[in-house]
Amino acid sequence: MTSLFPQIDTPVQESNKGPFVAVAIEQGIDRLLDYMVPAGLVRSLRVGQRVKVPLGRNNRSVHGIVIEVKHSTTYPRLKSLLAIDDDRVLIDPKLMELALWMSRYYITPLGTVLESIVPSAVKRKTGVGTVRMVRALKSRAELQESFESTRAPKRRAILARLMLLELNEGIELPKLASESGCTPATVTKLVRAGLISITAEQDMPRFADAIGQATVPTEIDIQLNEGQQKVFTELLPRLGGGFSVNLLLGVTGSGKTEIYLQCIRKVIEQGKQALILVPEIALTPQTVRRFTARFPRVAVLHSGLSQTERHRFWHQISTGQADVVVGARSAIFAPLPQLGAIVVDEEHESSYKQDTAPRYHARDVAIKRGQLESIPVLLGSATPSLEMYYRSSQSDRNAPPASPDPRADSQAEPAASPEPIYHLLHLPRRVRNLALPHVEMIDLRQERTFRSGVHLLSRRLEKLLGETLAKGEQAILLLNRRGYSNFVYCASCQEAIHCKYCDTTMTYHRSAGADPGTARSAEGAHTGQLHCHYFLAVNPLPEFCPACKKKLILFGLGTQRVEEELKRKFPDLSFERVDSDTMRSSKDYEATLARFAGKTIQVLLGTQMIAKGLDFPNVTLVGVISGDTALALPDFRAAERTFQLITQVAGRAGRGDVPGRVVLQTLLPETPAIRFALKQDYAGFAAEELGLRKEVGLPPFARMVRIVIRDTDLDKLHARSEDLAASLSEAVLEQGDQVRLRGPMPCPISRISGYFRNQIVLISPSPARLQKVLASLRHEGALAKSDRIAVDVDPVSLL
Ligand code: ADP
Repeated sequence: MTSLFPQIDTPVQESNKGPFVAVAIEQGIDRLLDYMVPAGLVRSLRVGQRVKVPLGRNNRSVHGIVIEVKHSTTYPRLKSLLAIDDDRVLIDPKLMELALWMSRYYITPLGTVLESIVPSAVKRKTGVGTVRMVRALKSRAELQESFESTRAPKRRAILARLMLLELNEGIELPKLASESGCTPATVTKLVRAGLISITAEQDMPRFADAIGQATVPTEIDIQLNEGQQKVFTELLPRLGGGFSVNLLLGVTGSGKTEIYLQCIRKVIEQGKQALILVPEIALTPQTVRRFTARFPRVAVLHSGLSQTERHRFWHQISTGQADVVVGARSAIFAPLPQLGAIVVDEEHESSYKQDTAPRYHARDVAIKRGQLESIPVLLGSATPSLEMYYRSSQSDRNAPPASPDPRADSQAEPAASPEPIYHLLHLPRRVRNLALPHVEMIDLRQERTFRSGVHLLSRRLEKLLGETLAKGEQAILLLNRRGYSNFVYCASCQEAIHCKYCDTTMTYHRSAGADPGTARSAEGAHTGQLHCHYFLAVNPLPEFCPACKKKLILFGLGTQRVEEELKRKFPDLSFERVDSDTMRSSKDYEATLARFAGKTIQVLLGTQMIAKGLDFPNVTLVGVISGDTALALPDFRAAERTFQLITQVAGRAGRGDVPGRVVLQTLLPETPAIRFALKQDYAGFAAEELGLRKEVGLPPFARMVRIVIRDTDLDKLHARSEDLAASLSEAVLEQGDQVRLRGPMPCPISRISGYFRNQIVLISPSPARLQKVLASLRHEGALAKSDRIAVDVDPVSLL
């Protein structure tokens, strides 16, 4: 294992006697450090434990995880381990393998990877008492011998008490001390003499209450329809075990979740456990209830948990007390002892990608974990990522994939197997023969010619909204941009107001609580603030242009502006705005959804928070205020995102008995993403977009790595970027023409929070060669300065 992490080559010193431990330091040093093990700790030490070790010239005490216990070391001078911080094995061997893979694949120090695998509540032992347990390291006869050879009365008393213990039995330190008539410090001295060990252990019995005993399943499995049955029958043999990746491409409302539930049932029947990943946004009571209503022992890991709850769940999961774990991104590391299957719902969601180190994608980690555990992985989406769609459609045609599988790195490439690993499964129709909603397009360019003034709702959308409400039905309006207007522009200077610290325009937000009537001051000027969505800076809106003192224009649109228009056009309407400004916590969000379900709210207006996963049968109208918001982003996935967002939100309509309608407003009606979204034609969109990506050699036809370099000083930034590019170029040249290097160039957002940002992008059809370039750089330590250089393997955003 340790060979992956270069160590200094020096001969073994005779004076060092094993065993030794290789420790991954949590602070993210990009190699393992070896330590000696004090005699008193040898017996209790295990791989996967969290330990304290001295680091650096001052021997600062730091935490790390034991990666290997071994009998030789190449380090000349070794320090000693200080203590075992936690007796439990926090990382079992399979999770350890996963962590090693992540460290290699995502070019991240192993310690950093492990830090994100173990929840901080577990590391801090939040909510659990710890006891210091003393154990004898010598046989009773040896203790007797020490007893007889010592004259110190206190030590004799301690030894006498220890001799009463059974083999491996422990006694709490304070108890031993008081029973021997001495202080704990006196007992501790026996550690140095090699007679006893003292370890911190949890008093776990406090966790006696098992998961889910409060929830009693109330639902039985639904009778699958013909299409679902076909999919389920195909999946059934794979649920028995063996690695497979199954992409379930099912239109919105086609009953994908029901398939997950019945697969999980099969897994539990085999005495195994299932792990379900959902986007954080979907962790609403609505989704959660579908699992708790079906199975008794479900652990739900959501962001609203207290630290104590988090720790309790982790403990219960690791001891096999949960059959099912449902959670967002980081739940992929749930320590289930007998994992039988992993489900990733809405696998295309970019929230599965973590944007700090380790920059992992939970779906890709799920696939790797599935491979390591030899179990099936089930991915579901109505709008799969092109990566997964391409791979599974290739694989099932039994043709060799045109590009190597980026999921596997060079060392872990699975041997050629007769059975393809990836499978594509279809659910092309909605359940109960419900129709997919009818989407109509409104060309906003023409719309402008019909009426003067600003109208964010077209005449058609207004009319349909009125009709929907009159029938007592509900509607969802999507605008994927919060705030009031996204530019504040001076027509005379021809400049938008920018954030002082970022290369971004400031978004105007109306004052909280202000309604349209009072949003303007007596002089008719707007009151409110300018927000930077990156730096989170907030400034008052100047009344006049700071440069030329002329009047400012509010340009572009946000959810607040639609809110204003709705209030004006539908004065009696009860609606709520759902965006990250109004939804401060998951509780707000849940409460709003509950009001919507109870029909006290007629319309939800919001950002992508309302576009996904919601299943309200009374919603018959969906309005997309602007289908174009994501199209202009300088990111090769702009079209894919646009298609996904529109298709997903359209899918919220018509899930009950009344057919749904969708109004898609756009300024760019000819754009393929818009045209295919109009027909909700995933296959058509994928074929078109894959054609383009293939032509220019972008993912999924190549693997991409993005390196972002940042600095507050522009000159230093350029110098460092050039240095890095130079050493990268050398490594790139060695790979022939297989790896392309672009940059250094400024990031599309060239400055965030006072940091200037440059990027270097590496693209290659060969993951192995790309990995080689990065490995050589890693070897030189060039990528170690983690706060200035961020390596993003398989980036999902290029801004
Ligand atoms: P998806 O996950 O594909 O959006 P869901 O699994 O949420 O679809 O199914 C949509 C709705 O249809 C749910 O209310 C679900 O309970 C119901 N449903 C699923 N399968 C069936 C079936 N075979 N017969 C009747 N209703 C079903």
